[in-house]
Amino acid sequence: MKVLVINCGSSSLKYQLFDMTTEEVLAKGIVERIGLKGSQLTHKPRGKENYVQEAEISDHNKAIELVIKALTDEQHGVVNDIGEIDAVGHRVAHGGAVFSESALVDDKVKKEIEKLIELAPLHNPPNLLGIQAAEKLLPNVPQVAVFDTAFHQTIPAKAYMYSLPYEYYEKYGIRRYGFHGTSHKYVAQKAAEMMGRDFNELKIITCHLGNGASVTAIGNGKSQETSMGFTPLEGLTMGTRSGDLDPAIVSFLMEKEGLSAEEVNQVLNKKSGVLGISGVSSDFRDLEEAAKQGNERAQLAIDVFVHNVKKYIGAYVAVLNGLDALIFTAGLGENSAEIRSAICKDMDYLGIKIDEQKNQVRGEAKDISATDASVKTFVIPTNEELMIARDTKRLVLDT
Ligand code: ADP
Repeated sequence: MKVLVINCGSSSLKYQLFDMTTEEVLAKGIVERIGLKGSQLTHKPRGKENYVQEAEISDHNKAIELVIKALTDEQHGVVNDIGEIDAVGHRVAHGGAVFSESALVDDKVKKEIEKLIELAPLHNPPNLLGIQAAEKLLPNVPQVAVFDTAFHQTIPAKAYMYSLPYEYYEKYGIRRYGFHGTSHKYVAQKAAEMMGRDFNELKIITCHLGNGASVTAIGNGKSQETSMGFTPLEGLTMGTRSGDLDPAIVSFLMEKEGLSAEEVNQVLNKKSGVLGISGVSSDFRDLEEAAKQGNERAQLAIDVFVHNVKKYIGAYVAVLNGLDALIFTAGLGENSAEIRSAICKDMDYLGIKIDEQKNQVRGEAKDISATDASVKTFVIPTNEELMIARDTKRLVLDT
C-alpha cells in the first residue's frame, strides 16, 4: 500500500510518499512560494537524483498537480502510474473538540474543518485547500485528516479550562486544545518501545522544541496536559512567539503603543520569543553563536528559554506524580546538545541526569541518561509524516 502524506501551509506544501509494507519513504519534497513569484518544486526521489523545477505555481491545485507529475515522471518518478497511490493523509492543524482521532474525509469532516477556521485562521484554510485539491486530482482515492490537536483531546477538564467566565467556553469554545500532538505521541511511543515497556504504563514528558515549541505530560498512554493552549501562542518562549505572559500586558501595550488587536497579535506571534529578547535571531544556531561572541541579550534569550522548559518539566512531574522518561525532539531538541544539557542541569532532585558523552548526538534516537539516573532521558527524532501515513493506512483498511 502506498500512502501520500501532504502537509499544506499557506504558501508551501510538503509531501512524502510511503510504501507502507516497509514504511520506506519512496520520495519526498516541497513546493515553495505557492502563489508568489519564484515558486518551485524540490523533489527528492529515493535512489535517484534530486530534481528542482521552477514554475509558476499559482495555487494548491497546481502544486499537487506538479507533485503527482514528479512522482509519476519517467525520469524522476517513483511510481509508474497515479493509480498506485492508494490513499492520501493530510496534516490538519485544528480539530477542535470535534476530532479526538484522525478521520476519513467526507463532506461532514470538511465542513467541520471549515468551521474550525475561526480557531486556526492561518492553518486550517490551507489544510482544507490541500484536501480539496487532492480530491480533485486523485478522485476515488481515500483521504484521511490527521489533526495536531487530536492526541490532546484526553486532557481532563481541570487542565483544559481557563479561569474565564464559563459562557466564553460555551459560546466560543475557549479552552486549551494543544498542538504538535502527532509528534508528542510518536516520540513517546518510540521511547516506550526503546525501553521495552508498555506505553500505557509509563509517565512521560515530551519536549517538542522547534520554531514552535511545546511540552506534554503523558500518563496511561494519554496526553494529560500540554503547554500550548487555545492557540499555539501559549506556553514556552519560542522562536518568535511570546509564550506565557501576564494577560494584562496585552491591554497595557495596546494603550501605550496605540496598537490594534491585530497589531498586538502580530507582536506576540512574530516579534517576541527569543527573537524579541535577543534582537538577534529566532534561530538558536545564531543565538548560540552570538552568545559565544559575548552578546548578553542572546545569552539572556537562551537562559529564558531554558528556564521555561525546566519550569514546565517540574510542573508536569507534579501533574504525573512521577516520571519514567523525558524526551527531546524537533529541530532544537534533536540537534542542540547545549540546550539539552542546560535544561537537564540541576534536575537530579527529580531523577533527571544526562551523560554528557552520550548527549553528543544529533538527529538519532538515543538514550542519553546517566547510568545512575532514575529517569530515562531520550533524544528521538520526530516523524509526524510517518504517523500520518500509519493513521491513514489504519483508517483506510478499517473501512
Ligand atoms: P519548525 O518545524 O517548528 O519550523 P524545526 O523543528 O525545524 O521547527 O526547528 C527549528 C529550530 O531548530 C530552529 O530554531 C533552529 O535553530 C533549531 N536547530 C536546528 N538545527 C540546530 C542545531 N544544529 N543547533 C541548534 N539549533 C538547531
